[in-house]
Amino acid sequence: MKLYFFNTLGRKRQEFKPIKVGFAGFYSCGPTVYWYQHIGNLRTYVFNDLLKRVLLYNGYEVKHVMNVTDVGHLTSDADEGEDKMEKAAKKEGRTAKEIAEYYLKVFREDLKKLNIIEPGIWCKATEHIKEQIEMIKTLEEKGYTYRTNDGIYFETFKVKDYGKLAGLKKEGLEAGKRVEMGEKKEKTDFALWKFSETPGLRQQEWDSPFGLGFPGWHIECSAMSSKYMGEQFDIHTGGEDHIPVHHTNEIAQSESAFGKKPWVKYWMHGAFLTFKGEKVSKSKGGLFTISELEEKGFEPLSYRYFCLTAHYRKPLAFSLEALGGAQNSYHNLKNKILELLEEKDQTKTNLNKLKRYEEKFNKEVNNDLNMPKALAVLWIMLKDKKINAKDKYKLSLKFDEVLGLNIKELKKEESEISEEIKTLVKEREEARKKKDWAKADEIRAKLKEKGIILEDTPEGVRWKKL
Ligand code: AMP
Ligand code: ZN
Repeated sequence: MKLYFFNTLGRKRQEFKPIKVGFAGFYSCGPTVYWYQHIGNLRTYVFNDLLKRVLLYNGYEVKHVMNVTDVGHLTSDADEGEDKMEKAAKKEGRTAKEIAEYYLKVFREDLKKLNIIEPGIWCKATEHIKEQIEMIKTLEEKGYTYRTNDGIYFETFKVKDYGKLAGLKKEGLEAGKRVEMGEKKEKTDFALWKFSETPGLRQQEWDSPFGLGFPGWHIECSAMSSKYMGEQFDIHTGGEDHIPVHHTNEIAQSESAFGKKPWVKYWMHGAFLTFKGEKVSKSKGGLFTISELEEKGFEPLSYRYFCLTAHYRKPLAFSLEALGGAQNSYHNLKNKILELLEEKDQTKTNLNKLKRYEEKFNKEVNNDLNMPKALAVLWIMLKDKKINAKDKYKLSLKFDEVLGLNIKELKKEESEISEEIKTLVKEREEARKKKDWAKADEIRAKLKEKGIILEDTPEGVRWKKL
C-alpha cells in the first residue's frame, strides 16, 4: 500500500519513496534538557512516534535518531541571550551535566508513560563537539563563514535558495522580529560557534581552531544526523516552530557542507498544542507536565488518546475539560476491549467487512497519518454487529500497533483488578437489595479509592477506571 506524507519542503503531499528500498532513516529534533518537557513538547514526540509506528506497520526497517540539546540553545532561539543550560545550572545550583542528566531521565520516563518507542540512537550535543568543529571547518574551507567579535557565523547570502523550507524570502524570515545584529552582515546569518565572553565563566566551553567557546544550536543537528545517517537521509521532523529558523539553518549549512540536494527528502512538522487560543507557554499557561496531569487524576495514555483526536498538522486546543473527554473515551475503549475478552460470541464474522475495515484503517494512517479518522474506523468496527468479539479483538490489537494505546496490556492488568472489583460490585449489589445503604456506600468509597467509579445504568451497575 502506498504511503503519503505532507512534505513541508515544497508544501505538498507526496508518496514516500525512501533512498534505500525498505529502509527509512529519520531524525527528530529532541529536547533541550534544561527543564521538564511540557505536554506541548510531548505532542511533538507523540507525532514522531506515530510516524515511526506507521513506517514499521508498513514493513520498513526504521533507524530513528534523536538529539539531546545540552549546550548552545540560547534563550532567544537565535544568537542572543543566555545559554538555557547555563542559566538553569546557575538557578538550580547544579552542574550543567547534572541538569542535563536529570531532565533527560524524566523525559525518557515520560516517553515510556506515553508508550512512545524510544529512538534507536540518542545523541548529545556535548558528546559531539569534535564532529561539529569538523563541520564548521568544512564550511570555513568552502567559504561560507565569517568571523565577528563574538563568534563564527554562517553567511546566508551565499546560499541562493536560503529559506526554501519556510517558503519565504530572507526578508520575510526575520520580518517583525527584532534581531540583535552585532557585527552580523545579515539578519538571517547565524552563529556556528560562539566565543566564551570571559574564559572560565561558563561551565561548558571547548578549545577549537576558532577560539575557546561552544557550538551554536543548529550545527549539532547537521553534524550528528550525518554521523549516524550519512550525508543524505529520508525524514527530518520537529515542531512547526523550527521551520523558519532552526531547520532553515540546518538545511543551509548541510547542503553547503555536503554539496547534496536535497539534504533531507521529507520534512515533517507537528503543529502546536494551544491553550486558550495561544501556544502553551510559561506566560500563557497550560504548561503541564505529564506528572502534573497524573496528580490531577489523568492517565498518561489519556493524553496520548487526546493527541490522536487531532491531525498532527492541525493545532490542538488543550484544556483539562477536553482532556477529561478524551480520558472518558479512552476508558470506554478499554472497557469495550475488556468486554470483548469476556464475550462468548457466536456471531459469524462477515469477512469482507472485516477486510474493508482493515483497508480503511491502513488507508487513513498511510494518508499523512490521519489518526482521527483511523480512530473512528476502530470505533465503527468495534460497534459492528457483523463482526464477532474475537475478530474485533484481533483487529484492535493490529490497529494498536499504530495507535499505541496499549491494548495488548489490557487483559492481564485489568482482569486482575476486575476479579477483585467484581466481588466488591456484587457485595454492593447485595447490600443494595437488602437496603443496607451504608454498606453500599462504603463499598462505593472503597472502589473509588482503588480508582474505580460505579455507574448505575438501566442495564445494571457498570464500573469505570477513574
Ligand atoms: P525544546 O525542548 O524547546 O527544544 O522543544 C522540544 C520540541 O517541542 C520541539 O520540537 C518544539 O518544536 C516542540 N514544541 C514546543 N512547544 C510546543 C507546543 N506548544 N506544541 C507542540 N510542540 C511544541
Ligand atoms: Zn534540530
